[in-house]
Amino acid sequence: MLVIGLGRFGSSLAMELMTHGWEVLGLDSNPRLVQAYAETLTHTVTADSTDDEALRQIGANEFTRAVVAIGSHLEESILTTSLLVDMGVPHIWGKAISRRHGRILQQIGCHHVVLPEHDMGERVAHLVSGRMLDYVEIEQDFALGKTRAPREIIGRKLGETGVRSSHGITVVCIKRHGEQFTYATAETVPKKGDIVIVAGRTNDVERFAELN
Ligand code: ADP
Repeated sequence: MLVIGLGRFGSSLAMELMTHGWEVLGLDSNPRLVQAYAETLTHTVTADSTDDEALRQIGANEFTRAVVAIGSHLEESILTTSLLVDMGVPHIWGKAISRRHGRILQQIGCHHVVLPEHDMGERVAHLVSGRMLDYVEIEQDFALGKTRAPREIIGRKLGETGVRSSHGITVVCIKRHGEQFTYATAETVPKKGDIVIVAGRTNDVERFAELN
């Protein structure tokens, strides 16, 4: 895996990939950053990713996956991505700092665009404004929410509560105090203090959490 840009996002991503057993080549034009991650990542290199020759020298064209983690330098992000696209790297992820930036990356052939600041801002908005303990929007208008089991479903088999039809959500997983999450079934009887993960349309997930 090639990670270009070892700023806050790129370095966290590179280190997480390492813990998952990936071999990571981390590249940055800032030698101080490269030095800082030299011990942690499989390989590191100081180079300018907008330099076609430099990219070829490190064998960028041979990677099947690359992440362009340059957000705040728009021109560098676009140039780097376009070089990787030209080289035929099959899976390119690009970090964008705005929707417009994301659209440009997509237009030049970036396969996956992520908007970490934007997405995290939206996610935190759901946490600070309601009773959700965690929240992930899987795609437009479909979310997973983590919340305490509301009174309405406590002491009854999930299959008998009718929450799917009455609230439009499905209880996917449940966690009892001091235990791990496990799959919820129609026979599961939530107890007071249990934590549930529910799936459904964004508004339905929100409303369900508000029952608490
Ligand atoms: P973050 O917000 O995650 O810290 P930044 O966008 O600020 O991300 O950081 C981008 C990183 O990409 C910086 O470490 C910067 O040195 C690096 N970078 C920017 N342009 C290039 C380039 N042309 N070649 C290599 N690395 C670059």
